[in-house]
Amino acid sequence: MPSAPYRGRLAPSPTGYLHLGHARTFWTAQQRARAAGGVLVLRNEDLDGARCRPQFAAAMLEDLRWFGFEWQEGPDCGGPHAPYDQSSRLELYRSAFASLRAAGLLYPCLCSRRDIAEAAGAPHEGPAAGGGDEPLYSGTCRPEMLPQEERALRTSLPRRGYNWRIRVPDGRRLHFVDTACGPRSAQCGADLGDFVVWRKDDLPSYQLAVVVDDAAMGITEVVRGADLLQSTFRQLLLYEALHCSPPQFHHCPLMLDDAGQRLAKRHDALSLRALRATGRSPESLRSHWLGTGRP
Ligand code: GLU
Repeated sequence: MPSAPYRGRLAPSPTGYLHLGHARTFWTAQQRARAAGGVLVLRNEDLDGARCRPQFAAAMLEDLRWFGFEWQEGPDCGGPHAPYDQSSRLELYRSAFASLRAAGLLYPCLCSRRDIAEAAGAPHEGPAAGGGDEPLYSGTCRPEMLPQEERALRTSLPRRGYNWRIRVPDGRRLHFVDTACGPRSAQCGADLGDFVVWRKDDLPSYQLAVVVDDAAMGITEVVRGADLLQSTFRQLLLYEALHCSPPQFHHCPLMLDDAGQRLAKRHDALSLRALRATGRSPESLRSHWLGTGRP
């Protein structure tokens, strides 16, 4: 059987200006798509209304084009899987939520952030505390932890107004082979706990939206920063629960500043906009990647 034609994606969130770290990861995504003779999709991950701004979305497209990115499908050029703005794809996420709920995999969680942090114990570091990227949920709101009446009451709660968690199969080991980092594994209940798939502001979590979209858009390889390596295990569980086959994953090392901190949108001087304004060319910026890995 011939394998499916390569489809990669760039999935920036318009919460600020893109910086050199994004450009480096995206460049790898573009090179891998080109080397495979494939298609590159641009998806605007603009779900978080409180943090995303239309002016950042417009700047994002402009800065990416200036840097030399070319995509074949996206919010500006359309394509067979339109729309490419997550804020216009809510129906898809709602139907994924409904199917997970109907399968009995979800439960509403009434814990506050503080409850969760306290129950997980501090500090939240290392694999035993959820892989370091999110505290391990203690399971307080799991149905079997609740008194009978409360349990019955919660099964009829509406989607809106609650955080909904998916139950992870405690004790099960998950594996995947990252095309950049090699074999990875994690244990449910130790390295990752029940995680939120639907938020109380009635939006899907990042984990659910990204899986629904990568599956619907036929993405064959996800290239992104290593900060999302641990999230991959959660996403693998969602692919399985939604009866979809997962793509390959390729996690790139994060770019660090001179102090060894990872770049973030607050590093204004390293935004593509600011670098362009100082007269730097994309070619000169790229040439540094071969050296220290620093801008
Ligand atoms: N939109 C996410 C971000 O900007 C990336 C999602 C992904 O690549 O899976 O951090």
